[in-house]
Amino acid sequence: MSRVLFTSIGAALLATMLSMPAQAQQRPQIETKKVDGTDNVYIFRNGNHQSMFVVTKDGVIATDPIAYGRPNGGQQYVDEIKKVTDKPIKFLVYSHHHFDHIAGGKAFKDAGAKIIAHKNATAHLKQLNDPHTPLPDESTGNKKVISLGGTTMELLFLGINHSDSNLVIRLPKEKIIFVVDTIPVGTFPGRGMIDFFPLETEAFIEKVIALDWERLIPGHPGAPNGRLGTKDDAKAVLALYRDASSEMKKLGQAGKCWDEAEKEFKLEKYAGLPGYANGLPFVARRYCGLWGRGT
Ligand SMILES: [Zn+2]
Repeated sequence: MSRVLFTSIGAALLATMLSMPAQAQQRPQIETKKVDGTDNVYIFRNGNHQSMFVVTKDGVIATDPIAYGRPNGGQQYVDEIKKVTDKPIKFLVYSHHHFDHIAGGKAFKDAGAKIIAHKNATAHLKQLNDPHTPLPDESTGNKKVISLGGTTMELLFLGINHSDSNLVIRLPKEKIIFVVDTIPVGTFPGRGMIDFFPLETEAFIEKVIALDWERLIPGHPGAPNGRLGTKDDAKAVLALYRDASSEMKKLGQAGKCWDEAEKEFKLEKYAGLPGYANGLPFVARRYCGLWGRGT
């Protein structure tokens, strides 16, 4: 009895300490779900990362292995795809070059997939030479279209944003886009600010909003309940970045970057978003980098 009580208190305490909603604690580690209203678009989630894959009659187009720190994660993803279809995995698209999203591609390569990424991602990956992240077989520029088994997938580079290699992956027929890290859905930005180009990101999000799509699959589950994003979410994130920028601009031009500005910087309007407390220092520091000494 006392042990049961202790365990439940311990679990509750741990959940509080990690600042994660109870629901996140109860989720299975791995989950594959078909996107409502589509015949063949799936979301594969591993922990707090997720990616999109599409099943066509001639094979599968997968994205981001999301297996950083999970030696079996790539194979687990391949196995999840095999539960849905016996078609071969033809393509693996890297959203950008960060390992938390793209480590684990070997299982896909072994399954015969061709790996595609933006050319800036390829350049970084060549330098970094990570043992868990196979190099792309093909590097793209501003646009590439993959056509397979009746599905069209566009890989669009709309300028630097979060990283200098981030693609917008669009399914024109389904009006779905997969965008990783730049446009969080219902959550406050955080560590992704470390490799982030503030002003270029504003232009990027405007271009994303101008595209034809209805739902956005983010690289981390949306809040609440893993929901997908809409253009209103993209507009809200753009407003948030602009608010953060103008707030820090005042502090930076008053000569308060770094320490003083980081202490004073608040975005009370967004305090209710999940991740606010943890993410605020990352947002502050990045915008201090812009307004305190030049990006
Ligand atoms: Zn990233």
